[in-house]
Amino acid sequence: MKFCSVVCVLLVSVVSCFSLDREAFTFTKYDLDVRIEPEQQRLAVRGTIVLRNDSATPQRNASLQISSSLTWRSIQAAGKPLQFVSQPYESDIDHTGELSEAIVTLPKEVAPGGTVELAIGYEGVIALDATRLTRIGVPKEAALHSDWDQISKQSSAVRGVGNVAWYPIAEEAANLSEGNSLFETLGRWKQREQNADMRIKLGYSNDDGNGVPILLCNQAGTALYEQMSRVLAVSAECQFVPLGLRVPAFVMANYEILNQPTVEVAHRPEHRLNAESYAKAADTVMPFVGEWFGTPREKAQVVELFDPGASPFESGAMLLTPLGDTDPKLLQIALVHELTHAAFPSNRPWIYEGLAHFAQAAYRERQGNRQSALDFLGLHRSAVVAAEKVVAERPKDASAQEESLIATSVDEFYRSKAAYVWWMLRDMLGEDTLKKVLASYRFDEDKDSAYVQRLVEAQSKRNLQWFFDDWVYHDRGLPDFRVESAFPRKASQDNYLVTVTVENLGAAGAEVPVTVRFEGGELTQRVEVHAKAKGVVRVATPKPPTEIVVNDRSVLESDMSNNVYKVESRKP
Ligand SMILES: [Zn+2]
Repeated sequence: MKFCSVVCVLLVSVVSCFSLDREAFTFTKYDLDVRIEPEQQRLAVRGTIVLRNDSATPQRNASLQISSSLTWRSIQAAGKPLQFVSQPYESDIDHTGELSEAIVTLPKEVAPGGTVELAIGYEGVIALDATRLTRIGVPKEAALHSDWDQISKQSSAVRGVGNVAWYPIAEEAANLSEGNSLFETLGRWKQREQNADMRIKLGYSNDDGNGVPILLCNQAGTALYEQMSRVLAVSAECQFVPLGLRVPAFVMANYEILNQPTVEVAHRPEHRLNAESYAKAADTVMPFVGEWFGTPREKAQVVELFDPGASPFESGAMLLTPLGDTDPKLLQIALVHELTHAAFPSNRPWIYEGLAHFAQAAYRERQGNRQSALDFLGLHRSAVVAAEKVVAERPKDASAQEESLIATSVDEFYRSKAAYVWWMLRDMLGEDTLKKVLASYRFDEDKDSAYVQRLVEAQSKRNLQWFFDDWVYHDRGLPDFRVESAFPRKASQDNYLVTVTVENLGAAGAEVPVTVRFEGGELTQRVEVHAKAKGVVRVATPKPPTEIVVNDRSVLESDMSNNVYKVESRKP
């Protein structure tokens, strides 16, 4: 050990001294007081965190990471300062591409399952920074429209983990140039932190008389305004109890608020008209949302991002977006999502987010037709196919995490894949039955993972165990359909009957539409094809069939290139 410490001093790195397990501790509690100083782009944080050792071995050291633009000031336990070494740690989990990591020597070893409470202090600036993107070749302008987080005099908008580590985290490094690294790291963190309690008190004060800024976070917070002589103090308390898969975010600017019965829009004074278009879009989609998901329990919240090119961000019932002159149809699609959240609470991400994305597709259908809806869903498809590939490539050991819809913390699954699952259920059960299922859902009664299956089976009188097994309780990848054979025969003078055998090469089953085309028309029938199995469907057509197509894209499938089958025309 003596030799080791000498080496360490030489290398100015303590990390190599002992094996540091960065993911040993789960942060179970955050209680943070955050002061925002927009003129200096600064943030100063004091508070306490509780760490629980979730590893199998006792831990003497803990890693605490914050954005590299922030600096550790103090770390204490039981009123006594702790020894810590602060070092830069490269990781793309933060927009700067680097973290300030404090490696803390704990007062005593924390046994597996044991906890330690730390009082912490850190501060620094949060300025526009897209280093993690520009260093992998993203042009600066595009990068800043994606990594738009900053505290600034004009407007502040800061998202949490995955964008800005403005509260402490502890993770192995994520690297954007290694395909799936950020995806996996972020997923692991959200998984670990789902049950954490986070209480944040945001505060701001000024004496310059420059208007009253609005301070908001993406969790029903209470805002307080206090005027003491010339000093105006604004604070907001945000409680994420538990955190779930939410990414805590805050915004502050001299917004005006357009307060409507269904939606609240925080906008720049000069964008009043744009804000009104959002409110109008909310009114337009309200009946649709009500019909599917019931009456909203809270207002949807839209907050303007000052960069007109910024990519929107959504968490909880808050949508952060530039308020441009957007096509009213697109605004409606955006509002359908937020109002679905407002109307349909659930602690299960695949239900909460999956339904909100599903609702957008269903509304797209109402604006256009089924093809428009399938085009919309199609935007999610490649993300799921890529995510399934990542999971399939994981080593298959005991520690391998299964990304089932009920357990996953990965966006691509609980949002995109779940949207398809709801769409497939709608096609299988019919719209009316699915609406009845949703109307019978009570989020406070959703205690076990089979709750939704029971509701579905009660309304549809169908046994859908296989479907829930393949899509919800497990991640069995995606189906891959092909038409194995099609045998047409003339049944009568003006009637042909074609027998189509559909094969599913994938390990997840589905009920899939089979379309038979003939001169002047087409007919579609549905067939249930289980995993690694075949299904047969017979379709009567008035003319000889020319082509068979399996899957109109409504079923999420890994390979859509083998779905068309040409029927050979036989000489009479
Ligand atoms: Zn959402």
